[in-house]
Amino acid sequence: MPITIPNAFDVARLEAQRPELLREAARRSLAYLETLRARSVAPVPAALEALRALDTPFPDAPSDAAETLSLLDGLGSPAAMASAGGRYFGFVIGGVLPASLAANWLAGAWDQNASMRAGSPSACAIERVATRWIVEALGLAPGTHCSLTTGTTASDITALVAARRTVLLRHGWDVERQGLAGAPPIRGIVGEEVHATMYRALAVVGIGRDQIHRVPVDGQGRMRAEALPVIEGPSIVCVQAGNVNTGAFDPVADICQRVQPAGAWVHLDGAFGIWAAASPRLRHLITGLDQVDSSAADAHKWLNTPYDCGLVSVRDPQALAEALSLSAEYLAQSADDPMNTTLEASRRARGIEVWAALHSLGRQGLAALVERSCALATRFAAGLRAAGHDVLNEVQLNQVLVSFGDAQTTRRVIEAVQRDGTCWAGGSTWQGHAAMRISVSSWATTEDDVDRSLAAILRAAAATFASS
Ligand SMILES: *Cc1c(COP(=O)(O)O)cnc(C)c1O
Repeated sequence: MPITIPNAFDVARLEAQRPELLREAARRSLAYLETLRARSVAPVPAALEALRALDTPFPDAPSDAAETLSLLDGLGSPAAMASAGGRYFGFVIGGVLPASLAANWLAGAWDQNASMRAGSPSACAIERVATRWIVEALGLAPGTHCSLTTGTTASDITALVAARRTVLLRHGWDVERQGLAGAPPIRGIVGEEVHATMYRALAVVGIGRDQIHRVPVDGQGRMRAEALPVIEGPSIVCVQAGNVNTGAFDPVADICQRVQPAGAWVHLDGAFGIWAAASPRLRHLITGLDQVDSSAADAHKWLNTPYDCGLVSVRDPQALAEALSLSAEYLAQSADDPMNTTLEASRRARGIEVWAALHSLGRQGLAALVERSCALATRFAAGLRAAGHDVLNEVQLNQVLVSFGDAQTTRRVIEAVQRDGTCWAGGSTWQGHAAMRISVSSWATTEDDVDRSLAAILRAAAATFASS
């Protein structure tokens, strides 16, 4: 019987169209980036409405790729949040660095699966260099193993799997063999201002809310080391570097000293704050980075790589490998293949973008990226205070919390700022007080961006006060 190949697409035609398609994609991407300084930071409501045109029934017939791209750009670009520009201060979201975006395009063309060397020797080799540079740049303990993940939450889960194995082994239980049922219960210990994602990560590894002890914190959200409970039984202490509201750092060295001799594992959430360690001027804010058993951080926040990219670092690589190693005949793997130290098997080659970010910045550029964000946050805080508004946190890092009075007024000012579109900042509640939260996390933010944003915020506050 002759074998018939379905001809809904034509390889020769797709290849012939590809060069122009990719040039067009680059042209449209540049046009998008060049609009960012002039447009509203939040997409205008009409742009979001127009997106509905993408919501058609699944097409029967193939479309011309140029038409697909044109539709996506025409509808998608105006509807995107301008977080790649200089005046987006929401959550902790950085704009992508040019070198890292360029690497992302190239890596897209390479289309490598960075699960193992047999699948992509180049992606694994580049990732190894990038992660070695990170361990060096952050001053983590020598011998620390760093892997790339999808983000801090995934990094927390990855590290906690190694933590779980280690603390249970110390109590005679091999969780990868025996499972969790019947295991000695593990106690999680966190600060009262722990990031919400840590509860989820702890739950995923089998540590439920009732098994978590919450340690009191000070006015900046720092865990009070002297208030730690006595360590009994298998315990995992989760500390943080960079509180998501205030930017404050737990006294990590002090905590390590108190709990590690009793057999507790210390895991650090350093989602964005860990990058302070890359600056000689700010490094003093973090203590104990070389003492923690594991840490989680993001590259997609303050290192300004594309989404998504997180880092997990573990001081005892053996614990991670024993908890996560896969083996199957066909995989022909080696022990240090990325899929043996992460939750994924197939994975995006994120190391290429991280390598490019770090290579393009160098040690000095990385320190400058972090330091300028902090200096610009201080500029924000000074301008807000000078106008008589109440800055709620000690601005040491890149985070500013400002109150405009009661919760309702503060919320109305935030809505007015977002509607105005000059900049974007979100809301939060800090120890009972409603606040607008400004996070300066992008290489692209300039003094002029801060001044224009500040003026817009002060205008929105004045208009809100006048109308109430
Ligand atoms: C953003 C953040 C997280 C979660 O990181 P994801 O990359 O979104 O998973 C955890 N902790 C802190 C302090 C954060 O700022």
